[in-house]
Amino acid sequence: MWKRFLRPFSGYINKMLPEVVFVLGAPGAGKGTQCSFISKEFGFVHLSAGDLLREERQRPGSEYGEMIEEKIRNGEIVPVEVTCSLIHKAMQKSGKTRFLIDGFPRNKDNLDGWERVMSDKTKLLFVLFFECCRDLCTERCLGRGAAGSGRSDDNLDSLQKRFNTYLNATMPIIEHYERKGLVHRVKAESAPDVVFEDVKKLFNKLDRIDN
Ligand code: UDP
Ligand code: MG
Repeated sequence: MWKRFLRPFSGYINKMLPEVVFVLGAPGAGKGTQCSFISKEFGFVHLSAGDLLREERQRPGSEYGEMIEEKIRNGEIVPVEVTCSLIHKAMQKSGKTRFLIDGFPRNKDNLDGWERVMSDKTKLLFVLFFECCRDLCTERCLGRGAAGSGRSDDNLDSLQKRFNTYLNATMPIIEHYERKGLVHRVKAESAPDVVFEDVKKLFNKLDRIDN
């Protein structure tokens, strides 16, 4: 009844909802780098699920700190209640309306949790999927580790586990969105500015708004 009544306004209501782009790809595919470019050029707020978890891990008094560290080191995925609530809070705190959610949803638990709590509160624009071969991804993460990323998971042992999780748990999520026609693939093996040329084409198609 309400739905039928509201249908004529749905375009308007949709416009009011915060808009989200999920950014996925293997570890080291370049999600964070491209998100920072997109954020500068198109005004999206960049929320990295991994960074939010690392911040929560460092927060004095966090009841999740140890669990998060263990999951990150083992390339496993933190329960969605924790991650989704960090994302939701960061969205609210920003006061903005357009978001890049980097590195999420990574498994079925993430997807279900997001749908339960956030899918009515947001509009998913599309899923940006960076494709990069495993060897190059590994080289980039190890390079990042050697250059002092300070990340406890930029080492060969953790990377192997992260790749397994990516293949077994995250790829099915990308396939899920692909069946819905929501995935835009971008080849991510070139230099960052070259990859960004393709990324730009996708974001140029969106209406410009002040975010
Ligand atoms: N992580 C998680 N849930 C998320 C995002 C990240 O549990 O939604 C954890 C997971 O252990 C992952 C780690 O954080 O391996 C690092 O994620 P990040 O996105 O920073 O890594 P990237 O893919 O960018 O290299
Ligand atoms: Mg990242």
